[in-house]
Amino acid sequence: MKNSKVPPLSYLYRCGYTETANNGFKKGCNFEHVFLQEGSHHCPLCGNALSPVSDGPSVSEVLRKGQRLAERQKKEEGKIKNEQE
Ligand SMILES: [Zn+2]
Repeated sequence: MKNSKVPPLSYLYRCGYTETANNGFKKGCNFEHVFLQEGSHHCPLCGNALSPVSDGPSVSEVLRKGQRLAERQKKEEGKIKNEQE
């Protein structure tokens, strides 16, 4: 079989190295690489530690959590207002 090369699990890592130069210009390294093993990897370009990039579902999960928290805060603010009146 020729198409059996796709790994069952892969982990995308990104180098988040940024540096602000004296002139205010931001330069950084956005090196990305898919590793087949989880672990601590380092950028071959700048030596910075790579951090794992989470995929879609977990990002929206975080957003949803933040939204819920904001809604709860709004409700609690409303409660306090009602009690004061
Ligand atoms: Zn880098």
